[in-house]
Amino acid sequence: MVKGLIDRYRDWLDLPRSLTPVTIGEGDTPLVRWDDWGKSRIWLKLEGTNPTGSFKDRGMTVAVSIARHNGSRAVICASTGNTAASSAAFASRAGLASVVVIPEGQVALPKMVQSAVHGAHLIAVRGNFDQALAAVRYAAQQESWLTLVNSVNPWRIRGQETSAYEIVDDLGAPPTLLVLPVGNAGNISAYHKGFVRYAKQAPRFIGVQAQGADPLVQGHWLDQVKTVASAIRIGRPASADTAKAAVSETQGRFLSINDQEILAAQKDLAHGGIFVEPASAAAYGGLKKLSAEEELPAGDIVVILTGMGLKDTETPQQWANLTMTPTTSEHIVTTISQLLNLAEA
Ligand SMILES: *Cc1c(COP(=O)(O)O)cnc(C)c1O
Repeated sequence: MVKGLIDRYRDWLDLPRSLTPVTIGEGDTPLVRWDDWGKSRIWLKLEGTNPTGSFKDRGMTVAVSIARHNGSRAVICASTGNTAASSAAFASRAGLASVVVIPEGQVALPKMVQSAVHGAHLIAVRGNFDQALAAVRYAAQQESWLTLVNSVNPWRIRGQETSAYEIVDDLGAPPTLLVLPVGNAGNISAYHKGFVRYAKQAPRFIGVQAQGADPLVQGHWLDQVKTVASAIRIGRPASADTAKAAVSETQGRFLSINDQEILAAQKDLAHGGIFVEPASAAAYGGLKKLSAEEELPAGDIVVILTGMGLKDTETPQQWANLTMTPTTSEHIVTTISQLLNLAEA
């Protein structure tokens, strides 16, 4: 039987005793041995296998359970897409209304479809994610029955800590290095807290941003942001301070890679059987860039693949070959051998 995160890690989450979990079977995601690079063992944590296709479900099971427990009637978030889809799913499971506010024209269509099928009310604001977040923070302050479920809600971070717990349970200890994409910076903050709470020790953190949306690399806010990785297209990360602490306390670093490197990383992973969205590919591309710049430590290295590939099918069309070869049943064998010869040539 599938247990949700709250049932598995309740002792670590400090929840009210009488709280009834809102769950759709989130967490317990695979840690896949990808490759060995010298003395480093590279593991991929497939967070895209969460029920709505991204790690956001970890924080949402906790945040929405708490919202319902406290008598809230609706949840609201600003989103680049995955928070919207996750909040809509958990709200509908909980019997609450959900409102999602997105930066107009900036969200991949499948994520809006996901939110809509769960009955979310969609609002588009002119501007970028940071402006959408400011708007929902204001709205949630005005109404006591409306709960903000962005990662500025501390219960989101608490739930997201559980991925660190799972990694420690799987490997027996924290890895030497942890690589993950950084947008609003809630997740890197959650992993840091999670390792420290669960294992009293954290890996070195490598936070990867996309060039064009890399305020933590640049060292200042960005008001114009541009990258194919829409899930991390954020110029003013709300959790910047805790993210910087995670990196500096573990002698880690932030780095950024460009769109071409992101797409190349997406292709590498896809050719190894793993299809992720561009923001997640950025983490893997970041590890490749790091390995070109410095010697990787021996031991376990974990790359967090935050969201699944079907979340955004438009971007990979820049490199995937969608050519349909026409044939007939008479000619099918010739056609196949021609195609395979072509592929090998
Ligand atoms: C939300 C998200 C991120 C960024 O996480 P932050 O906590 O905002 O840093 C990265 N990848 C995917 C797929 C996401 O949905």
